[in-house]
Amino acid sequence: MSDEVVTVADDLQYCPRCGAPLIVRLLPTEDRPRLVCDRGHILYVNPKLIVGVIPERQRQILLMRRGIEPRYGFWTYPGGYMEIDESVEECAVREAEEEIGVKVEIRGLVGVYSRPGPHGPGIVSIVFRGETMDEKATPGREALEARWFEAEDIPWDDLAYDTTRWALRDWTEARGGG
Ligand SMILES: [Zn+2]
Repeated sequence: MSDEVVTVADDLQYCPRCGAPLIVRLLPTEDRPRLVCDRGHILYVNPKLIVGVIPERQRQILLMRRGIEPRYGFWTYPGGYMEIDESVEECAVREAEEEIGVKVEIRGLVGVYSRPGPHGPGIVSIVFRGETMDEKATPGREALEARWFEAEDIPWDDLAYDTTRWALRDWTEARGGG
């Protein structure tokens, strides 16, 4: 257990509240070792939230090919880290606009997926269905291209992440196809 915490927090050396060095300690009030500074500030290391949206139009979905690392060149739907001042729905709408230039209306949840650390940051990915009237996508600087896919043409072997595959699998099953 303590090894995992240390690995997750490898790059966290200083207390964000006071700047003192952080050390890993098992405090009597905690059920696992935590990063603590000598003033007693505890730095909790929690998963990051990622929000994605699968844009739909006439039974097709709009996927994009990543134009940045990691997973450059692989397919996914628009998504990214939540900003501190937005709701999950707002984040989904914003990502679709920024990454492929389409306006989506949120139509429901596809699923919630998690990829625990310590091998990479722990993340929770929330994926929505999004209806769009926009036929033409305009890839932003983080996308190489965007393309409409029928369910049976989803590029399963070239998807960016496990979470991408899980969400598209659930979307496909919910639509009764496969
Ligand atoms: Zn501190």
